[in-house]
Amino acid sequence: MALEFRHVIKRFPSKTGDTLTAVNDVDFRVEQGEFVSVVGPSGCGKSTILSMTAGLYQPTEGEVLVSGEKVDGPNAHVGFMLQKDLLLPWRDIVSNVEFGLESRGLKRDERRARAMKVLEACHLGGFEHHYPYQLSGGMRQRAALARTLAIDPEIILLDEPFSALDAQTKLLLQNSFSKVIAEQKKTTLLITHDLSEAVLMSDRILVLSERPGTVIAEINVDLPHRDEPLKRRALPEVSEYAAQIFAHLKLEEKAF
Ligand code: ADP
Repeated sequence: MALEFRHVIKRFPSKTGDTLTAVNDVDFRVEQGEFVSVVGPSGCGKSTILSMTAGLYQPTEGEVLVSGEKVDGPNAHVGFMLQKDLLLPWRDIVSNVEFGLESRGLKRDERRARAMKVLEACHLGGFEHHYPYQLSGGMRQRAALARTLAIDPEIILLDEPFSALDAQTKLLLQNSFSKVIAEQKKTTLLITHDLSEAVLMSDRILVLSERPGTVIAEINVDLPHRDEPLKRRALPEVSEYAAQIFAHLKLEEKAF
């Protein structure tokens, strides 16, 4: 089992001095190589779930296990990618990708070889000596994915990586991320507000309730082309799955 949440509760101290329960009794498992999306209303604890997977927060109750081992702090088994690419502007792309490898005791040549390999996999060969400002938004996100993959994590966490991009770039990037992630056989957890994106990219979708977030539905996306969302997009079942998730969310117009 790549990832397990066992009856996880996370409470934070609130501004008023009481405690705020962010997530309650979150219990799910993710298999090796599976792509799972997490959807739910704002503030329901999605980012908290990713942060606990990455070891940035500890559960108040329950356990988080990565490859059967309890997560007790940040570790190399988990790679985290956010909406902002966080590339260092003064480094070229290849040295941005090498950045995470510098503390791993690899020789310079080995670092460079590994970085070039993931850049090729992310279709950025030829751009290694460009600086972040010279790349488009989509290319920067691919560079950020390359940096995450370079440390060869078992699990990749994606926190809304496409939400700041225009619609066409988003479709192309969903496709290239899906291909690379499938080729590299990575277990992936994606947070998204875009229900179609969840259907296009996932094997399974966890639907969370309003805060305190708990899993109210697990939807298996039984459709082909998980590694090619652009092809999956043409299937009529995609909108049926999206409607099914929307119904679980019970979002009300008056809430907006
Ligand atoms: P989502 O990602 O679904 O929008 P979050 O996981 O960011 O939700 O937050 C869930 C709840 O926990 C929110 O009410 C948020 O204010 C609260 N929260 C998150 N992180 C902290 C923190 N470090 N300290 C206090 N409250 C927090």
